[in-house]
Amino acid sequence: MSRGARITVDLAAVRHNLARARAAAGPARVLAVVKADAYGHGAVAVARALAGLADGFAVAVVEEAVALREAGLGGPILVLEGFADGEDLEAAARLDLWLALHDAGQVVRLARAALPRPVGVWLKVDTGMHRLGVAPQEAAALWRRLAGLAQVAGVPVLMTHLACADDPADPATARQLACFAEATAGLEAPRSIANSAGLLGFAAARGDWVRPGIMLYGVSPFTDADPARWGLRPAMTLESRLLAVRDHAAGEPVGYGGTWRARRPTRLGVVAIGYGDGYPRHAPNGTPVWVAGRRVPLVGRVSMDMLTVDLTEHPAARPGDRVVLWGPELPVDEVAACAGTIGYELLCRVTGRPPRRWVDEDAGSGS
Ligand SMILES: *Cc1c(COP(=O)(O)O)cnc(C)c1O
Repeated sequence: MSRGARITVDLAAVRHNLARARAAAGPARVLAVVKADAYGHGAVAVARALAGLADGFAVAVVEEAVALREAGLGGPILVLEGFADGEDLEAAARLDLWLALHDAGQVVRLARAALPRPVGVWLKVDTGMHRLGVAPQEAAALWRRLAGLAQVAGVPVLMTHLACADDPADPATARQLACFAEATAGLEAPRSIANSAGLLGFAAARGDWVRPGIMLYGVSPFTDADPARWGLRPAMTLESRLLAVRDHAAGEPVGYGGTWRARRPTRLGVVAIGYGDGYPRHAPNGTPVWVAGRRVPLVGRVSMDMLTVDLTEHPAARPGDRVVLWGPELPVDEVAACAGTIGYELLCRVTGRPPRRWVDEDAGSGS
């Protein structure tokens, strides 16, 4: 019945990668970032696999946190975008969520709110990302104000976010670290700076809480590195099967628009996967595809349900053979680089069509 396209998520790999993050974090506590459905891996399944191993979770929006609580996950959950309205605030207090606050207006609204109980807050300081965050020169005063509010539980955490840590040679990171140190000097508060790249690339960014995301899924956070260099194991496999193998004459085009023509007599493989499953339509000719033990080039335009590969150099390939679009056999970042994007995007935008299953070799069970 199944055409073969499917997503397999290796939860043992996620746990392995969390252990790598923890080793790099030293004494800092680790918030596992599971926003955007755990970068396409299934937020509830990933959070359950990491429960008791991570010190908490981070998501982007309140709805994502609510879904984790409804699935029975306890412990800290930080909402990175904070609250949008009173409903979010009320949910945060009721469900014991932590909120990142990024402007002075939110501090005022929190001070006026009648909450069933206090909420944990993180104050986000803009040290150079220039997306969200309070100005460095107002950070200390806002933090003191928050620390004195009855609506705030415990000591507010000071946080910032790095814009260029994926390139360890970029001097912007050192400037951001210096700006954060200066803006928060003398405040007796826990600090949080590092995403995956900050954690692996900058010891000075460790702080009290680290926030790794992409590395948990087995993808290098750096522009030029493969995951194995950091001891990371890819967690997601996007795979399918060879639907057909065809003889194709020299000069003939294949697929929509006839964008590729065979220069020689060619064995063409048709793979049962396409952009309707989340494979990038703009992946060009030559993008690597793993077919039964060997890499072959993509040829022609990716369509909604199928794509084509050149099997001329792979005479053993047969219909029904296993094809991996990305996974342990083929790092997602290699495919992403060909398609002009990053592994993050490809992982996040797999669609709901291919069945997704979770395997857990350590626990010896699948679901
Ligand atoms: C997404 C996000 C992270 C995780 O980033 P990775 O690069 O995936 O490790 C950490 N902190 C904030 C504020 C984020 O938005």
